[in-house]
Amino acid sequence: MEMSSIVLRMSPTLITNVRIFDGLSVVSDCGYILIEFGNIQQISKFPLPTAPGWNIVDGSNSTLIPGLIDAHVHVYQDLKFIETAIQYGVTTVLDMHNESEWFKKMKLVADEKNDVADIQSAGLAATVKNGWPSAILRMTAAADATLETRISGWPDITDNETADQYVATNKAAGASFIKLMQEDGCALSLPFPTRPIPTPPLEVQKAVVDAAHRNNMLAVAHALTNDSVLQMLHAGVDGITHSSVEPINESVISAFKDTNAFIIPTFAVHASSSGEDRHTRQRLAADLADTREKENFLGCLHIMQAGYSIQNSYEQITILKEAGVDILCGTDSSEHLVGTRAGASVLHELWLYVNRCGFTPIEALASATSKIAERFKMKDRGIIEAGRKADLVLVKGNPTESIDSLNDIIGVWRNGERVVWE
Ligand SMILES: [Zn+2]
Repeated sequence: MEMSSIVLRMSPTLITNVRIFDGLSVVSDCGYILIEFGNIQQISKFPLPTAPGWNIVDGSNSTLIPGLIDAHVHVYQDLKFIETAIQYGVTTVLDMHNESEWFKKMKLVADEKNDVADIQSAGLAATVKNGWPSAILRMTAAADATLETRISGWPDITDNETADQYVATNKAAGASFIKLMQEDGCALSLPFPTRPIPTPPLEVQKAVVDAAHRNNMLAVAHALTNDSVLQMLHAGVDGITHSSVEPINESVISAFKDTNAFIIPTFAVHASSSGEDRHTRQRLAADLADTREKENFLGCLHIMQAGYSIQNSYEQITILKEAGVDILCGTDSSEHLVGTRAGASVLHELWLYVNRCGFTPIEALASATSKIAERFKMKDRGIIEAGRKADLVLVKGNPTESIDSLNDIIGVWRNGERVVWE
């Protein structure tokens, strides 16, 4: 890894006269930020001395925010995904199930280059034979002879011993956290060969959570319905990686409050699954030149069972936010997933938090920066403060008052290096 030498060669950068949203609040309307050695060195309300050779960036009429984080994506082995994400200001993505080898390959690229988003991964999820997500991949993935080979290498967790082995192996392979799957397929209209799709018994799910915690790893779970959410919260997970698509009830609200679990809404994928909210994406896709990419982003999966809806998800997130539950921005986007687009889906997601769930723009921005850093224990990013990585986004206008300003990104830095693209 040559990162340190790249960082040392870079001249200091001073961003001047800029409004600073540090991930929690607006700390200055006209501030100065010094970036050196890949980190934020100094934040000041007053002009800082400069030296010849420094990069000076005029931040007038603009706002500096921490690099955005998408807390639910699937990178697979698509370099293009992390290249595209950073162009929308997304400097870190949390990969919620991937082949260990693919993740390692992508992580290596992210360690060597600053013009792609960084990745932290769940590695392989805690899967069970014929369960999620093999069941949906067999229904939706393009015919691919390698799919069955991939699936045959996934965990089949059946008891405490396989749970322990899985967590140890996955951690050794580079996983930063553990992802559980509590999905029986009942909310989806796909013709699964068995209904319900197999899920691990609850005591086994609990064993996975306990093993993760013994290894100082977070445990998060996929769940789409109230029952699955309750089961996972009772199993002790730290967070749920989707909002549910049925009307919320009191037990779910109390369970979130009692367990202090967070939730990652993934409206981006729900909008596609239920075939809704195409117009927001149309705005975000307005200047997309590539026709195939545009069609993919504007398309809809239409796989949600009648009676389930993203409207339920909006209501759920509105209520949970009011109840003080941490909402972490995540989209479930991956390169070929219809209705999603790397990075752009984060802007879609945040727009919906503000316009459908009553978030202030500041609450929405915090959900994609400081909140994720705090809950995923990333002490090196997500907040603009001295000593953290200089993963920064310069936005024209004021996104702390109008979330639409996020469409006007004029600069992105990762590890203190400004990202340049065509
Ligand atoms: Zn996912």
